[in-house]
Amino acid sequence: MSEQKKIEKISGVKGMNDVLPADAAMWELFENTVQSVLKSYGFQQIRTPILESTNLFSRGLGEVTDIVEKEMYSFEDALNGDKLTLRPEGTAGIVRAALEHNLTYDGPKRLWYTGPMFRHEKPQRGRYRQFHQVGAEALGFSGPDIDAELIAMCQRLWDDLGLQNVRLELNSIGDAHERQQHRVDLIAYFEQHKEVLDAEAQRRLYSNPLRILDTKNPNMQAMVNAAPKLIDYLGEESKSHFEGVQKILRHNSIPFTINPRLVRGMDYYNRTVFEWVTDELGSQGTVCAGGRYDSLASIFGGKATPACGFAMGVERLLELMKASGELHSPSECDVYLVHQGAEAQMQSFVIGERLRDAGLDVVLHCASAVGVGSFKSQMKKADASGASFAIIIGEDEASSNSVTIKAMRAEDMDNNQIKLPFELVVDYIVDQITGGSETDSSCDNPNHIHIHH
Ligand code: ATP
Ligand code: MG
Repeated sequence: MSEQKKIEKISGVKGMNDVLPADAAMWELFENTVQSVLKSYGFQQIRTPILESTNLFSRGLGEVTDIVEKEMYSFEDALNGDKLTLRPEGTAGIVRAALEHNLTYDGPKRLWYTGPMFRHEKPQRGRYRQFHQVGAEALGFSGPDIDAELIAMCQRLWDDLGLQNVRLELNSIGDAHERQQHRVDLIAYFEQHKEVLDAEAQRRLYSNPLRILDTKNPNMQAMVNAAPKLIDYLGEESKSHFEGVQKILRHNSIPFTINPRLVRGMDYYNRTVFEWVTDELGSQGTVCAGGRYDSLASIFGGKATPACGFAMGVERLLELMKASGELHSPSECDVYLVHQGAEAQMQSFVIGERLRDAGLDVVLHCASAVGVGSFKSQMKKADASGASFAIIIGEDEASSNSVTIKAMRAEDMDNNQIKLPFELVVDYIVDQITGGSETDSSCDNPNHIHIHH
């Protein structure tokens, strides 16, 4: 016998998670709900590449933002020297694509996207290096109505997902010139309280003082609370835009609180900003964040395009869904096919295909490294699959061209089996599952029946 060399196992990248089959049903439920809610507001999906030129983000998000300063996966393409970045967020790429393809040539566009984002952060609960966002971008709209619509759309999504403990925080950060005046006063104020500023705040004092307002340091809260409020610097137009948003929200009974300290991490935001927050996820409590970004298209050298959008963190929302409970895992299939013997195996394969023709979900028991296993072990699998019926083909059945059908969820378990000739099986099962009624009569092929689960 030759000596076995120990082969080193390869693990996944830190902070980048596998979504395992046990969670797949919940992801599917989330994604389907998102799709139908967004569609109900007329949003169309857009898919942009995961890689973009690095300068798209450094220019779009701002050089002194957290993301650009220290969170981006940037590298040089060894084959041609291109400077590339794994997208840390979706908005920059979508605005780039919209400008490149002149998507708003015939008017404003409502767009949405979903997919992985990448940020080199310290992995912890609710904070990963690859995570997923669903976002919406409404391009070319300038009024407060679209801001309110985006918020209403989120509210509807939470309702449809059964999430109750998410609340809306709202603010206006005004336009650039209003922020400029505020910034001057804010820096002066922080300079007067230098002894309270932590290292992070000291570092940001002149580069991004607005972000200091966002600090989580408890020792700075009192000082930050008394700082000049941006909202007091808003001019008439910004003010009336902000009031417009609030008016629509109130009129539609969407509760919110105004948080004058709410700012966003990217430079491109102006006027309306909002966050959906929960207390159920510890310190990573923001599940969705967004706002208006009227200047981003111009920053990219495109024609001025007012816009508003949001992005939600899928992992955080799924964790909330889990916490809100009662998500039973759905069954794998309607029918599980159990068989013993070579002839039976051939027949069960054919029955499986016929049942799928009729619109059913079917799992055929297939061989593992130890073969197909005993009848008993196959029945255990049938039970675990959650199937409504097991179809059993043993040697007896195979030789008489028949099958045994066992109702796995029958109330009367003493009377839950029936033996039927091969050719009656499909009709019988379809009948049982649809209660003999829900057949699609518009279908050309009388044998092809659409099952509504
Ligand atoms: P935070 O303050 O939590 O760092 P952020 O301001 O960086 O959030 P955004 O860039 O606005 O977040 O992204 C929108 C949403 O995406 C967040 O509200 C959050 O739900 C989610 N999100 C952001 N970063 C991560 C991450 N590293 N892991 C998981 N979800 C994230
Ligand atoms: Mg962040």
